[in-house]
Amino acid sequence: MTAVLPGSTVGVLGSGQLGRMFAIAARRMGYRVHTFSPEADTPAGQISDREYQRPYEDLDAVREFARGVSVVTFEFENVPAASVEAAAALAPVRPSGAVLYTTQNRLREKNFLARSGFPVAPFRHVRGAAELPSALEEIGRPAVLKTAGFGYDGKGQSKILTEEDAARAARDLGDSECVLEAFIDFEREVSVVAARGEGGEFAHYGVVENAHRRHVLDLSVAPAAVPEEVVREAVRIARAVLETLDVVGVMCVEFFLTREGRLLVNELAPRPHNSGHFTFDACVTSQFEQQLRAVCRLPLGSTELLRPAAMANLLGDLWEAGEPDWRAAASLPNVKLHLYGKTEPRPGRKMGHLTALATTPEEAALAALAARDALTPPGARVL
Ligand code: AMP
Repeated sequence: MTAVLPGSTVGVLGSGQLGRMFAIAARRMGYRVHTFSPEADTPAGQISDREYQRPYEDLDAVREFARGVSVVTFEFENVPAASVEAAAALAPVRPSGAVLYTTQNRLREKNFLARSGFPVAPFRHVRGAAELPSALEEIGRPAVLKTAGFGYDGKGQSKILTEEDAARAARDLGDSECVLEAFIDFEREVSVVAARGEGGEFAHYGVVENAHRRHVLDLSVAPAAVPEEVVREAVRIARAVLETLDVVGVMCVEFFLTREGRLLVNELAPRPHNSGHFTFDACVTSQFEQQLRAVCRLPLGSTELLRPAAMANLLGDLWEAGEPDWRAAASLPNVKLHLYGKTEPRPGRKMGHLTALATTPEEAALAALAARDALTPPGARVL
């Protein structure tokens, strides 16, 4: 395939904030963007030239969408394999359906990682409640039970500490397929967002430190305060994962860093990632532009970090006391506000984020958190 040049149309399966920021990057470079998802007036659709509102299972609509674009990428990994196949018959899909297939199911992903020799937390396949006791026996407690399919942001996860937890988990489990994983008492969580082109060229954004709240990413700080050898090892593993899977596009590799300094791969995302949102404001080339470049066969851009940065997510909970105080956010000169165009601020829903730039990562983290605090309407602030 020759390069897909500006002026061409790129297609995105999925229509959330990742697609929105991809579409912003693509339109800035003169591309047209078509998005496809079951919803209307979506974060990505609002920025796109054309929004297809059809179920993923409507293969005729997927084919029509694929005929209208030069390349298809995705921003959401739970697109059914059959839809990706239907698109791939008419337009190149990057990363490939095979990458999507491996990473959209925890069990397949864990098996791939373990078989390829990548370090992961000990885990067992659990095919329904009947298999849970023996798996717990092998893995020990505490453990985390995760559904194999369609899980993200801690959805479909339960921690098992006590007998009662085990009984409850078994009741909830029924006959669904799960992965039981040893609970890792990690020192911190880090991630590497990286890109790979069709010819194997590779670029990465270094190691980012991530703090989660109720299983959802809360704060990312770049660069992470970890020793140089941890950075080298994390990047080496990330590169090897992208190469082994033959990823063409962007992938995020999330890790636990154990108290002994070992890196364990927790999860792969075959697309730009929340922990890479800071790149939009803080790097020469954002993860979204990098995805565009990789899938369009353009050379990858520089990933240089211009200033230390921190990103704080804005969840729907922030709206509980009324509309956030946007003027307060705008009054902070080194903080950038991103809102995703979602109209319903449900608790836990990712509505936007703030990126703070500073002279050190610590200052950036404090600034991002202070900026988020300032958003809470003054009358509703808990002092
Ligand atoms: P996941 O959806 O698997 O990325 O999990 C979301 C978050 O839950 C992770 O980022 C961790 O903070 C926590 N978590 C998941 N699995 C484990 C584990 N095996 N040990 C400790 N914490 C975990």
